[in-house]
Amino acid sequence: MKITEIFKKQKKTFSFEFFPPKGLHSAVRFGVNAGQLMKLDPSFVSVTYGAGGSSRDNSFEMVDLFHNDMKFNCMAHYTCVNATHEKIAYDMRTLQDMGIENVMLLRGDPPEPDSNKPLNPDGINYASDLIRLVKQKYHFCIGAAAYPEKHQDAPSMNEDLINLRIKADAGADFFVTQMFFDNKYYWEFLNKATQVGIKTRIIPGIIPINSYKQIKRFSEISGANIPEYIEKKMAPEKNNPDEVYKIGLELAIRQCTDLLDNGAPGIHFYTLNKSRAAVDLYEELSKDRPEFKEKYEQSCTPHVHI
Ligand code: FAD
Repeated sequence: MKITEIFKKQKKTFSFEFFPPKGLHSAVRFGVNAGQLMKLDPSFVSVTYGAGGSSRDNSFEMVDLFHNDMKFNCMAHYTCVNATHEKIAYDMRTLQDMGIENVMLLRGDPPEPDSNKPLNPDGINYASDLIRLVKQKYHFCIGAAAYPEKHQDAPSMNEDLINLRIKADAGADFFVTQMFFDNKYYWEFLNKATQVGIKTRIIPGIIPINSYKQIKRFSEISGANIPEYIEKKMAPEKNNPDEVYKIGLELAIRQCTDLLDNGAPGIHFYTLNKSRAAVDLYEELSKDRPEFKEKYEQSCTPHVHI
């Protein structure tokens, strides 16, 4: 089902992002964790493409498995860095033939960014170029990325917002944000997006803080600021994984509650292929939300997290 159709049925969506596992060990862990998350009946799931060194084939294989075997509503991520018109056409047809109805279209990151060279030999340099191309020729529902704290390459928030508007005009049906740890960035971003005429739904992307080291790394990669109160709580416990997990979960509950209570259209959860934090968070959020609770109570088998 197209995600835009799901929006009509569910006022707030709860979705999970996965990346293709590498190696047997990770594949087994992935299977168990995806099984736990499947019981929560997410609105949709998405599979990353090319990020962290994963290949096109791994990504499409995961998409096929989720969509056709596990019967999730699945969105395939796809990037245009170095992709020719021919390759894009071939890949879009492959996804279409698999029955996929949703794609998240991105620029991606070149292996070695060189500002003097175009990113793409066929002139598809930005996500908006890819979105326009795919929108004209295929019938996918299209998601795209948005950056509440500005994309790292953009010279200013204003320019980034203008480029976001170009993505919306090119045919993006909804946006999912880069991770952020302070909701003020999301609320301010929604206001600014409205000011430049963007009416497209912007779903917040949330990541659970599982380890101090990991969150520092993500903050560096994504440019997401870590607020001082999080730093103060986490830093003294950085060598105590159980305590960091507890603090991280508490923060995620607080962040998601604020988002959902104040009008965010759902939560897109960066699972990192793990299930414990997503399940614990879902359990907590479902306490006051009948639409989540019903789903949670339907899952009758015990949860196992590895
Ligand atoms: P764009 O929207 O093209 O923007 C990139 C930069 O170019 C921005 O600074 C923008 O302001 C600027 N820009 C855009 N249009 C123009 C223009 N016409 N002229 C001048 N400047 C312009 N990466 C992966 O490799 N695989 C994934 O699966 C993946 N999934 C992601 C999912 C989400 C929700 C998010 C937020 C990011 C994801 N990424 C993924 C990371 C993404 O590929 C990088 O952040 C990448 O650097 C930018 O991609 P984009 O689609 O946002 O690019």
